[in-house]
Amino acid sequence: MYDPKSLKAGDFICHDEVMSTLAYAEQNKTNVAFIDTLIAKAKERKGLNHREAAVLLDCSLQDRKQEIFDLARQIKQDFYGNRIVMFAPLYLSNYCINSCVYCPYHRQNGHIQRKKLSQEDIAREVAALQDMGHKRLAIESGEDPKMNPIEYILESIQTIYGVKHKNGAIRRANVNIAATSVQDYTKLRDAGIGTYILFQETYHQKSYEQLHPAGPKHDYAWHTEAMDRAMEGGIDDVGLGVLFGLENYRYEFVALLMHAEHLEAVHGVGPHTISVPRIRAADDIDPKTFANGISDDLFADIVACTRIAVPYTGMIVSTRESKECRARVLGLGISQISGGSRTSVGGYYDLEPEAKSSAQFEVNDTRSLDEVVAWLMELGYIPSFCTACYREGRTGDRFMALCKSGQIQNCCHPNALMTLKEYLMDYARPQTADRGDALIVSEMDNIPNPKVRALVSEHLLDIQNGNRDFRL
Ligand code: SF4
Ligand code: SF4
Repeated sequence: MYDPKSLKAGDFICHDEVMSTLAYAEQNKTNVAFIDTLIAKAKERKGLNHREAAVLLDCSLQDRKQEIFDLARQIKQDFYGNRIVMFAPLYLSNYCINSCVYCPYHRQNGHIQRKKLSQEDIAREVAALQDMGHKRLAIESGEDPKMNPIEYILESIQTIYGVKHKNGAIRRANVNIAATSVQDYTKLRDAGIGTYILFQETYHQKSYEQLHPAGPKHDYAWHTEAMDRAMEGGIDDVGLGVLFGLENYRYEFVALLMHAEHLEAVHGVGPHTISVPRIRAADDIDPKTFANGISDDLFADIVACTRIAVPYTGMIVSTRESKECRARVLGLGISQISGGSRTSVGGYYDLEPEAKSSAQFEVNDTRSLDEVVAWLMELGYIPSFCTACYREGRTGDRFMALCKSGQIQNCCHPNALMTLKEYLMDYARPQTADRGDALIVSEMDNIPNPKVRALVSEHLLDIQNGNRDFRL
């Protein structure tokens, strides 16, 4: 029985409700009057429920689809402006006891190079990431209680925050590790993590169990209920995601929104972010063996409809996607991207080819962070290295309230300019710095409040004079 308030996975991701929603979307996908009502509702910028969003995703009427894209673009602009937050993944260990059939770290893969970073290795990796200009990381690790116990993850977080190399610092470490207990989530909260990220991979229980034939991840309920335990453990910000390509995209889209509705219904706050990874080639993995791969056009539809359905949730796209694809979806709702990523364990410091053999998947966008920064500015975006919210205690429902009211923009835009200035001073190539300085000058006019404008002006000068870490 479908119940978004239930704490049981089978109730809040109710298979029958997903199937009935898909039938409902199929019935209504050419119902122009109804689609117009939904678009009008979406224009109120309060989101759509999973049934309503499913109809828009299925809509194939070209003029209405264009309206959906235009609205996604406008909502993105209203809530996020033109800033794009930058981050990088940091792989700590690829030891894993699970058997996910789409991931080269699965335990049966005997020829991938297994690596686990020591604390000294992590310090070197973090210094290399800081030398690129990164301030925000997503920590990744396989699940292996012996090799990567929670104590190892906690010590690693401490190491990451402790590295102060030149003007660099990691100011926000998000964590993407296996589903764990309430007690362990509390430990992660106490270690000062930003967002806890866990991809569902697929919400379709039968497929999920086939794709995870052994190991603790095989337990669908344990995995699907992880965000509730994380929130019970005191983590305010959680990040959802599915791996598109494993199951039918319509099923995943609907269930993902049901999961967001569940978090809102139970905890009063929806997901902080939603990631939209697509399956990629990797050692021992051929994405062609997965029948549910989606085209770039469908991918764009999914991003636009997600943006409309949950306007206040950050959306993340990684270097799994090509430059062209990233350019397209940035306009439709993506607010955060990675740049200069290495998906191998130790890949930032150790650029030897052997590092590739420990990679989780092939990176599609292989440009350096500076190239990505310059490119974003060319496209009219402000690359942002902001990490202010969680450091200012703006998390969970406090953050969501500011976000829903649109007031967060008054912080995001000035913080983007100040953190970009730090990047330009410390890490950018001369041509990137010139372009960035010109962008900052022109963007200053877009700070509406004269007091804030004066404060930012003052801090930009402070940064020019060697001071760092200003934030609103
Ligand atoms: Fe392990 Fe995660 Fe890869 Fe599964 S997806 S094999 S849990 S690292
Ligand atoms: Fe993100 Fe908050 Fe910074 Fe805005 S002010 S970019 S929401 S951390």
